[in-house]
Amino acid sequence: MFIGILPNVQNLIPCVFFDRDGIVNHPPDDAQRYVLHEDEFELLPGFVESLRLVLERGYKAVIVTNQAGVSRGWMTQEALDEIHAKLERLLKEEGLALDDILECTSFDESHPNRKPNPGMLLEAASRHHLDLSRSWMIGDSEKDVVAGQRAGVAKTVKVRAKPIETDADFRVDSMRDLPELLARELPPVVD
Ligand SMILES: [Mg+2]
Repeated sequence: MFIGILPNVQNLIPCVFFDRDGIVNHPPDDAQRYVLHEDEFELLPGFVESLRLVLERGYKAVIVTNQAGVSRGWMTQEALDEIHAKLERLLKEEGLALDDILECTSFDESHPNRKPNPGMLLEAASRHHLDLSRSWMIGDSEKDVVAGQRAGVAKTVKVRAKPIETDADFRVDSMRDLPELLARELPPVVD
């Protein structure tokens, strides 16, 4: 007879995964490529509104971000930690909180956590008992879309103005349009 603890599928909770740059905050400019200091980090209003809706509908919320600037030596881990501390502080002022922020600082394209690889989503799923099959991934790069698909999420959203080819299930022109899409399409979590 098998005696042990099996995960109860009923207790798995779906999650909305968000990419960071271009989704949570203004994207860094093309020349710089990375947000290097917390002073350069500002929340996009469309993200705050979207996160509020996601949490109200019963989802967990996790950020999954490639930040290879650290391993390239363009920024320190401490600077990245400060940026994420600022992010959590700004959300707290809005009465909001994330369940987690996962970052991949490797520039190795074969690293399992570096999007489009799904490692960060899988790690978050095991850490927070997430139901990937009812989860969503939202990003402004096709790498985000592919990472979501490889992790087996239900829906992917690409935030990018036309014309753009994408395998995402939904596309919106900008973060201003995301709350409306989610209000219409994101099903409430019912257990
Ligand atoms: Mg991005």
